[in-house]
Amino acid sequence: MNRIQIAIQKSGRLADKSLNLLERSGLHFARSKDKLFWYGRNLPVDLLLVRDDDIPRLLVEGVCQLGIVGENVAEEKLLEARQGRPEVRLDSLGKLDFGHCQLKLAVPEASNAKSIADLAGKRLATSYPQLTRRFLDENGVDADIVMLNGAVEIAPSLGTADAIVDLVSTGTTLRANHLKAIEPVMASQAALYRCPQRLDAEGEQLLDKLLTRIQGVQQAAETKYVMLHAPRSRLAEITAILPGAESPTILPLEGQDDKVAVHAVCTEQVFWEHLEELKDAGASAVLVLPVEKMLA
Ligand code: ATP
Ligand code: MG
Repeated sequence: MNRIQIAIQKSGRLADKSLNLLERSGLHFARSKDKLFWYGRNLPVDLLLVRDDDIPRLLVEGVCQLGIVGENVAEEKLLEARQGRPEVRLDSLGKLDFGHCQLKLAVPEASNAKSIADLAGKRLATSYPQLTRRFLDENGVDADIVMLNGAVEIAPSLGTADAIVDLVSTGTTLRANHLKAIEPVMASQAALYRCPQRLDAEGEQLLDKLLTRIQGVQQAAETKYVMLHAPRSRLAEITAILPGAESPTILPLEGQDDKVAVHAVCTEQVFWEHLEELKDAGASAVLVLPVEKMLA
């Protein structure tokens, strides 16, 4: 059968987490020195390490069958490709819960602009001209877009733009450049995409298997195995506190008739607050253990 190629970012904000996710999903690669193409050692699945901007096109053209990239880049490149070919598609297989950021409209701290409407006729610097144009259109505002590949945040102080549309996660870069965000344009995180072309039966089966494994890793990251001792009289109250636990296992405790052991798989995040509530409800010996893999 044909091998499957997965494209991920070679180096940058998404690189390590993308590789880590695939390795935790059981894929092993023979790492090559040039760090461009890694051959899959245990499954017919290879890795292509590229600039994140190239990933959407590699998928659209079917050079790669799977890819991990920020939704911001996927959407921008898709809008760009659709200008010439309106039929172009890219199928998302799900968000990956890393690489969180927001594309935001920001203006100099001293500016009076409160929303995009206040920037009509002005110049907006951005590396995301398509997303910016769509945002302007959706708001019925006309403005000039100044395309910059990097250092977008210094455009206002250089006098080349009145505002910027740029990625923000903590806001530190904005503050350092005396800018303030005034409107969100798009929320983004890393996502898994597949090529729009159907593979042969074997290929589709392999894609399904990979997807199930990746989802298993994703779900396991939030899931915890909780063990505790509970007074029989407050069992219902205690099991109700466990977040996302379905039918916990109740076990007898040797020599203690008034107490039982409760074991539960919690599929939602277990916070300190939950543990404090459990303790207040009479639970003792509470243990929270990580779950490494899950196959529902
Ligand atoms: P490449 O060399 O692969 O083109 P890049 O410089 O375009 O890399 P990075 O800065 O590594 O890209 O960011 C990759 C992605 O990480 C972004 O497109 C975005 O989805 C996500 N991201 C998360 N937080 C941030 C942030 N604070 N700033 C920029 N990108 C972020
Ligand atoms: Mg890039």
